[in-house]
Amino acid sequence: MSAIDGLPPLRAVIAAHGLSAKKALGQNFLLDLNLTAKIARAAGDLSGADVLEIGPGPGGLTRGLLAEGARHVLAVEKDARCLPALAEIAAAWPGRLTVLNADALEIDPLAHLRPPVKVVANLPYNVGTELLVRWLTPPDWPPFWQSLTLMFQREVAERITAQPGGKAYGRLAILAQWRCEARIVMRLPPEAFTPAPKVDSAVVHLTALPAPRFPADPAVLERVVAAAFNQRRKMLRASLKGLAPDIEDRLRAVGIAPTERAEQVPIEGFCALARALAG
Ligand code: SAM
Repeated sequence: MSAIDGLPPLRAVIAAHGLSAKKALGQNFLLDLNLTAKIARAAGDLSGADVLEIGPGPGGLTRGLLAEGARHVLAVEKDARCLPALAEIAAAWPGRLTVLNADALEIDPLAHLRPPVKVVANLPYNVGTELLVRWLTPPDWPPFWQSLTLMFQREVAERITAQPGGKAYGRLAILAQWRCEARIVMRLPPEAFTPAPKVDSAVVHLTALPAPRFPADPAVLERVVAAAFNQRRKMLRASLKGLAPDIEDRLRAVGIAPTERAEQVPIEGFCALARALAG
């Protein structure tokens, strides 16, 4: 890709700008531009879309997104040391890259984005799940984004895409799959990153559905799911007893045996229970 954007290889960029990786910022960089282009392609056609990227770092994925045709990229980076490297990318793609030097947890990027918006990021592991939960729980649905293409630790990626019946299935799977199509599109070994993290990683692609799969009030559903999985080894009649005195009857009324455990109940069942408990 350096041939396409005329920019130096990422190792040279990192050396030139002294970007030694900081663990506290979750800095594990992707230096292979073929790989970053592949991640950008996993987000689908970018040509008519604005892309929100969190944590561009030295800009490997940013270069991939621009080369794959993103209409505009808004990149939010906390580490000011990365700004000169990102300015070089902005100069190579005039008018198509805006960089905000900010903490992604503190800012609202919406003012800078024009729909349709796709979020694509190799997230810092320490804030990845929090950002995902925020993106999955907006005040209104559909959300501001059309899709999320995000790198996570493999274990988190598996929790997002898990099906009922296993240990990985829980709050994150229900939150994600209630209103999105979610699948793992790429798996990466530690050596794909510099420095190499201790764990495997995976890219998850989530597409926002126009409406939830099953009706439910989001706040009630969240309460039910949180209670059910906080004590996931208990039977539902025990873990949910704080939600209603007649919880056993309510469970039976929606076709769930009170002796079942949370991980056996599909999303449809939790939504039915949330409806039964609403009001
Ligand atoms: N995208 C680059 C890549 O793929 O090589 C870097 C990914 S690295 C895993 C995570 C990046 O997120 C780092 O550049 C780090 O400085 C940045 N970062 C960490 N916490 C952040 C926060 N709260 N807000 C914005 N950026 C953050």
